[in-house]
Amino acid sequence: MRLIVVGAGIVGASCAHAAASLGAEVVLVDAAKQGRATAAGAGIICPWSARVTDPAWRALAYAAARQYPALVAGLADAGETDVGYRQVGALALAEREEERDEIRRALLARRAEAPEIGDVADLSGADARRLFPPLRADAPAVYIGGAARVDGRRLAAALVRAAVRQGAVVRDGEAHLAIGRGRVTGVRLGGERAGGELIEGDAVVAATGAWTGSFLAPAGLAVPVEAQRGQIMHISLDGVDTGRWPVLLPGASGHYMLAFDGGRIVAGATRETGSGFDYRVTPAGLAEILGQALTVAPGLADGTYLETRVGFRPMGAGIRPLLGPAPGLDGLVIATGLGASGLTMGPLAGSLAAQATLGLPPAIDLKPFAPL
Ligand SMILES: Cc1cc2nc3c(=O)[nH]c(=O)nc-3n(C[C@H](O)[C@H](O)[C@H](O)COP(=O)(O)OP(=O)(O)OC[C@H]3O[C@@H](n4cnc5c(N)ncnc54)[C@H](O)[C@@H]3O)c2cc1C
Repeated sequence: MRLIVVGAGIVGASCAHAAASLGAEVVLVDAAKQGRATAAGAGIICPWSARVTDPAWRALAYAAARQYPALVAGLADAGETDVGYRQVGALALAEREEERDEIRRALLARRAEAPEIGDVADLSGADARRLFPPLRADAPAVYIGGAARVDGRRLAAALVRAAVRQGAVVRDGEAHLAIGRGRVTGVRLGGERAGGELIEGDAVVAATGAWTGSFLAPAGLAVPVEAQRGQIMHISLDGVDTGRWPVLLPGASGHYMLAFDGGRIVAGATRETGSGFDYRVTPAGLAEILGQALTVAPGLADGTYLETRVGFRPMGAGIRPLLGPAPGLDGLVIATGLGASGLTMGPLAGSLAAQATLGLPPAIDLKPFAPL
């Protein structure tokens, strides 16, 4: 079975890795688009705090979070330790103690369904600040022990390297779907240098993120995926050991903050529905991020500004990812629409796409995620 995976974001990289591990011959094609979501994503893995009630989304997101430690351990066994993953816990911040009680009750209720939530405990404002020193002092919080963070860029790169070691081939360039006799036959590479070369395959996985609509439109498929711009800021606290600081989830605003090794703090992010592929950092975006970040963590004010990243979240029409075979066109599997939770769900979504393409029974029923 020769499988062509289009898109080397977290979904495509995971799919290529899973398919190569299952013995498929894999070609991974990527056009290095500006605004790839995986290269901008914050990397919070804490689906249990989301106010999503859809059971299919929850089943997928919780299973994905549950599998992360095994994925990271498997990559480490294969020599890939540079993925920026750590289970650092999260602080769900509240304005008042009654709000904190509500958050705790909701998390404990979900723990029956998802024991991997881990410890759930009340913290005073002072305790919370001990764990994340730039935080304001008066925000009580609920600690969520199972929460983690990951560096999407490094994880995707590690998955690609691991896939290549299992025989996958990586090609650069814009892929165009090739169709013959009512089925997908491969992709044609665009761009002058590639000269329209045809890469033949038995099946194609469209892991093309927010660009899935334009990738599949020539095949007459109207996939409801839109780009939602997210601007996200990186700040350095020089010389501070931030590697074990928890993720901050301040609640209603949808903004958050997290820390990586070496004093790097990530704060954001905007959610700009209707942005299209407008790859810009805007004054309004910066004002929104800084306003939220400094209100929650005034201690960041004297940090060093590093950069602002821009990414396009692939948003489907609803909350559910679009995952599974394309009806009416043999040889095509779609894997996109992971929205704001793609770094959490991407590894599982990619491996489910690989299973579906290779004709294996998927580990999770894909019917609720039918893409069209
Ligand atoms: C600011 C921001 C913060 C986020 N924070 C989090 C978070 O904390 N936790 C979380 O779980 N998720 C988060 N997300 C969401 C997550 O980043 C995305 O859902 C996820 O990265 C989507 O991955 P993907 O592989 O589907 O798409 P992408 O990463 O966008 O990858 C798609 C790839 O397809 C390639 N491509 C497209 N068309 C073609 C073509 N025709 N030919 C060849 N290649 C093509 C592109 O070059 C790109 O590399 C965040 C996103 C943003 C923007």
